[in-house]
Amino acid sequence: MFDAELIAAFYRKETPFYYYDLALLGRTLNAAKTAAESHGFHVHYALKANFNGRVLEYIRDTGFGADCVSGNEVKKAIEMGFDPSKIVFAGVGKSDREIDYALRHDIFAFNVESVQELRVIDGLAAKLGKKANVALRINPNVDAQTHHYITTGLDENKFGISYWELGDAIEALRESDYIELIGIHFHIGSQITDLNVFKSLCIKVNEMNNWFDERGFRLQVLNVGGGLGVDYHQPDIKHVPNFQSYFEIFANFLERKPGQEVHFELGRALVSQCGSLISRILYVKNGIKKNFLILDAGMTELMRPALYQAYHKIERLSPIAAVDNEEQVHYDVVGPICESSDCFGKEVLLPRSARGDLISIRTTGAYGEVMASHYNLRDEIRYVYSDEIV
Ligand SMILES: *Cc1c(COP(=O)(O)O)cnc(C)c1O
Repeated sequence: MFDAELIAAFYRKETPFYYYDLALLGRTLNAAKTAAESHGFHVHYALKANFNGRVLEYIRDTGFGADCVSGNEVKKAIEMGFDPSKIVFAGVGKSDREIDYALRHDIFAFNVESVQELRVIDGLAAKLGKKANVALRINPNVDAQTHHYITTGLDENKFGISYWELGDAIEALRESDYIELIGIHFHIGSQITDLNVFKSLCIKVNEMNNWFDERGFRLQVLNVGGGLGVDYHQPDIKHVPNFQSYFEIFANFLERKPGQEVHFELGRALVSQCGSLISRILYVKNGIKKNFLILDAGMTELMRPALYQAYHKIERLSPIAAVDNEEQVHYDVVGPICESSDCFGKEVLLPRSARGDLISIRTTGAYGEVMASHYNLRDEIRYVYSDEIV
C-alpha cells in the first residue's frame, strides 16, 4: 500500500520504473538474519534474484554471503564487497573462464553439477596450483510442488548429480589432487510455499549425509539451497516471509553431525516484496468481449508473467483520494510489446481507469529488473529508491 504523498510523487515521475522500498528490504533482511542466527545457519543471497546496486549494498551490509550462477555474478559480488570466502558458485554450465576467475578469487565453494565438471575444475585448479573447495550438487528427486519451469530437483531436470552417478563422482574425487570435497548441495526449486517439501528435502539430505559419512567423507557443509516462496496475493499483509518457521524445519529435521554447518541460498524471499513496477496507462481499449489497459511497461520490464504465467497483484494508483463506490471493470492488463504473451493479468478487476493513470504491479523485487531486456529496442530500465523519491 502506498500513501497519497508517495503516489503523488510517482505521478510526477517518468514511467515505467521499479520502486524499491528500502525500509521494507531492511526489515526483511533483519528478520531473516535473526531467524538464521538463532540456529547458527549461514545465508548466501542468490544474486540472480536482484542485483540492483543499493539492494546488494543492503544485503552485503547484513553480512550475508553470495550465491552466484555465473562468472559475472561472482565478479559483481566481489566488486560489491561481498566476502569471497562467503561466495558459492553453482550452475550446470560453468565455462573454463568462469571457473578460472572464481579459483583465482578463492571463493568458498563451487557447487558442482556433474562428474565432468569435477574433472574440469581439478584440471584448472592444478594449473593454478590451487585447491578448489567443492560441494556436490545432488539432485534428490524431490517435487517442489511449484511451477514446472522453476522446479529443479526432479530426475527429469538438468540440474545436479543424480544418485546413480555418485559412485563415479567419488571415484573422480579420489583421483583428483586439487579438489577438496567440503559438502553436499541441494536446490530443488523456487516459490515453494508448502513447507512439507522442505521436510522431504531434509530426509534426502540426511540419507546423503550418512552415505558420504559411511564412505569416509567428513562433510563440513550441508547446503540446502533456497526456494522459500512469498505471498504474491497479499503483498501488504504478508510482506515479510515467515523465516522462523522455514528455518525451524531444517533445525528440527536435519541431522547434523558434529561440527557440520548448514547453509542456505535465499533469493526471492529476501527481495520480492520490496519491489513494485510502476507503469502508466497509455491506452484504454474497450471491446465487446474484452477491455484492455495498455501500459507503458511490458514483458521487457517484467518477464515473469510471460515466462512462467506468474501471478502478480495489479493495482490502480488513484491520482486523487479514492472515492467510494467507484465503478469496477474487468480489464486485461497488457504491455506494448509485439507478443501476445505480453500480458500481466487477465480479467483483473480494477476501478474504471483512464489514460494517464498509474498502475502498480506488486511483489516484483525478485526476478523482475534482472530479467529486463532490450527486445523491441526498449529503453534502459529505470528504478527509484524509497529514500530518494520526492
Ligand atoms: C536461483 C537459485 C537460488 C535461489 O532461489 P530462490 O527461489 O530465489 O530462493 C538458490 N540456489 C541456486 C543454485 C539457484 O539457482
